[in-house]
Amino acid sequence: MAMNRLVDAPGPVPAAAVTGYATGAVSSRIIECFNPATGVRLGSVPAATPEEVVAAVQRARIAQRAWAASRFAERRAVLGHLLDHILVHVDEICAAIVEVSGKTWEHALLGEIMPVCTKIRWMLRNAERYLKPEHVSSGWLLHKKARIEYHPLGVVACIVPWNYPFQNVFGSLLAPLMAGNAVIVKPSEMVAWASARFRRILDEALTRAGFSPDTVQIVDGTGETGAALVKSGVQKILFIGSVGNGRRIVEGSAQTLTPVVMELGGKDPLIVCDDADLDQAVHASLGGCFINLGQNCIAAERLFVHAGIYERFVEAVQRRTAALRQGVPHRPGVFDVGAITSPAQLQIIDTLVQDAIARGARALVGGRRGEGPGLFYPPTILVDVTPDMRIAREEVFGPVMLIFKVADDAEAIRLANDSAFGLQSCVFTRDRARGERIAAALQAGGTCINDFGLCYLAQDLPFGGIKASGYGRMNGRDGLRAYTNAKAVLTDRFAFSVPPKVFPVGPDDYVRARWGLRLLFARRWRDRLRYLFAPRSSARPELSS
Ligand code: NAD
Repeated sequence: MAMNRLVDAPGPVPAAAVTGYATGAVSSRIIECFNPATGVRLGSVPAATPEEVVAAVQRARIAQRAWAASRFAERRAVLGHLLDHILVHVDEICAAIVEVSGKTWEHALLGEIMPVCTKIRWMLRNAERYLKPEHVSSGWLLHKKARIEYHPLGVVACIVPWNYPFQNVFGSLLAPLMAGNAVIVKPSEMVAWASARFRRILDEALTRAGFSPDTVQIVDGTGETGAALVKSGVQKILFIGSVGNGRRIVEGSAQTLTPVVMELGGKDPLIVCDDADLDQAVHASLGGCFINLGQNCIAAERLFVHAGIYERFVEAVQRRTAALRQGVPHRPGVFDVGAITSPAQLQIIDTLVQDAIARGARALVGGRRGEGPGLFYPPTILVDVTPDMRIAREEVFGPVMLIFKVADDAEAIRLANDSAFGLQSCVFTRDRARGERIAAALQAGGTCINDFGLCYLAQDLPFGGIKASGYGRMNGRDGLRAYTNAKAVLTDRFAFSVPPKVFPVGPDDYVRARWGLRLLFARRWRDRLRYLFAPRSSARPELSS
């Protein structure tokens, strides 16, 4: 099976393609790249060695000085150029995405370009507001003024997966970049062939605005390159990927105590109540399971459907799923879904499905891998799945809809929460109060009521998970400030100063301080008055021992 893989280069490969422009260094290893929908070889990409990673970080550190000193208007200019370029060259960018991922043109446009444009627009409109110094109360220190300043951290590394080749790169770098950091992105080796095209977009936007292209660099490579980046002395890491590699990142970053934002896998529940709008729930479930052919961290991997609506729901999703058209995206015709991007993932999907079928699950649609040379797995529906099956507990990350029948809300919530993961969740009901009640009980980083996936597009909402789905947040104010040092500054309110006399300690200091403490923190006015007029002469207590 054709798959992207690391091989020894036949001769020295200029590192130009690793970093965007010549450094004089050479790479000794290359990634052979294939189109996953056709198996056709696309070419090879040099893999950055650990030494090249260190050199890239050093260049980023130098470039970051000018970037950190830039005005918000200048940063907005760079993001504005990015947006303009994307809109002008949208077909070309979609072509690069389709070629490396095997997904359909529609999923490339709506699932990748659209979120990135949404994020850029949010940054242009909101970033300055959330990054400029924020004045806060100084509490009872009335003679002082307090503020929080959001300083850049330095160089931020983003290590990202293959499922959204464009979105994972651009969606990740925007927040750290806007916050004044230099950024190094390490995309998955599975989609390395697109990096050259993406680098051109970044280089053009930065140089047009007068900044060094070293401010944002893409380094290609496998896990070895990622591991070198983790240990390279960057100030923060955003890791998007699998739980297993998430653990390796934390181990690697422990030596330098480099903080990490962890965006890991999911096994998201989607609950359909008996009073749900059937058509709405069916459409959202098809989207939740089959958008991007299920290679979606927030895919609806487990559907919990109330008994009262179960038969009608299953009949409708079965009919619509069976009618989905799958094909090679850049061949003539319209396709609903394309290919699986990673051969390893295709193997995981099939292993989990066959294990479930062997243990009594029934495939209503699909259920076995498609014909090659491309990597195809058809949209699949499994029923009669039991919670002890591997497929009910492990992330599939593929086009498999698991439908569980539940008796009531309590059972739906109990089963939904019975998972190692906690990324996102959905609930469908016409009863608003019921929807809110179920949402409040779901253990997840977010809940979308009567829709699928839109939490990710509402950029003011933080995005992330709990439990094995990770920690830290992307998007919104918190996702932006995550790449800053929130520095506390306390300064004088008045021109005159109040000397902070601590030493030498006087004989009455304890008694006076106790009087002040009680006056300051007494919860009732009558107590305050009592403390105010209480005789202050009572002495400090003595210890007998
Ligand atoms: P992966 O963990 O195999 O790889 C992710 C990235 O880490 C790649 O760039 C890879 O080269 C790199 N890497 C691998 N080993 C490494 C190491 N030891 N040190 C440093 N870097 C290393 O994940 P994948 O298969 O590319 O992606 C699928 C996973 O990503 C799924 O679990 C999915 O749920 C998750 N994901 C999560 C989100 C989210 O926002 N929570 C979004 C997309 C995908």
